[in-house]
Amino acid sequence: LLSVENLRLNFGSFEAVKGITFDIAKGETVALVGESGSGKSATALALLRLIEREGGHIAGGSVTLHGTPDLQLSALSDRQMQQVRGNRVSMIFQEPMTALNPVMTLGDQVAEVLRLHQGLDATQARAATREAFERVKIPEAERRLDQFPHELSGGLRQRVMIAMALACRPDLLIADEPTTALDVTTQAEILALIRQLQDEIGTAVLFITHDMGVVANIADRVVVLKRGDKVEEGPVADIFIRPQAAYTQQLMAATP
Ligand code: ATP
Ligand code: MG
Repeated sequence: LLSVENLRLNFGSFEAVKGITFDIAKGETVALVGESGSGKSATALALLRLIEREGGHIAGGSVTLHGTPDLQLSALSDRQMQQVRGNRVSMIFQEPMTALNPVMTLGDQVAEVLRLHQGLDATQARAATREAFERVKIPEAERRLDQFPHELSGGLRQRVMIAMALACRPDLLIADEPTTALDVTTQAEILALIRQLQDEIGTAVLFITHDMGVVANIADRVVVLKRGDKVEEGPVADIFIRPQAAYTQQLMAATP
């Protein structure tokens, strides 16, 4: 589905990611793990070509989104990239508030995304939004449509983000620590929800976390980053049973 080859990312002259290579297959869940500052978020942003907005740039390598035809992300126009973000690759973040408009109702925000990317009219978009809210098990979905982001709990806001991200049935969902800001029970609910929707629509997931417990729960395969380098990669069972890199063993030891 997606190939990252020798990707290098800089912030000014600082090398945040130093040439990493990995693939994501159709429907697969890949966990991208590593300590704080190892380059996980930078990588995620680069896959959506959003890293420039954060003051960084792609210094080398390539990202290919496979299909007919294969797409080289660096070769796409801004307009084409916008379409990729709408239809093929979606992202959810640790703190949903950063991605939500505080002065627009939740229903309007999701409907707007659906109108833009699915070409629905206002009535259809509202109905589809309601359906999306129900699919992610937001209680009292109808009433929530008219609420603003700050009126919801963190867990419900994350459900809205998932509804928004998955409403366009992307091939790939990038989740950057989507459960880190939540309590343990809510965390488990959100993970279960992502897994369920993944089964339903066959979306691949790049799941970024430093919590190896979460990795065990959700991932098929694991890519381990350390200060911008890939130090290890393998099926989740191998990583847990016989981690090769000392750094991976350290990450495991740090997880209760
Ligand atoms: P965390 O687990 O804390 O989210 P991360 O693995 O996501 O960490 P990144 O955010 O990708 O790490 O950061 C990688 C490196 O790039 C870090 O050293 C960080 O300080 C640096 N960096 C990230 N964003 C910027 C920025 N906007 N300007 C300058 N340096 C940055
Ligand atoms: Mg990060």
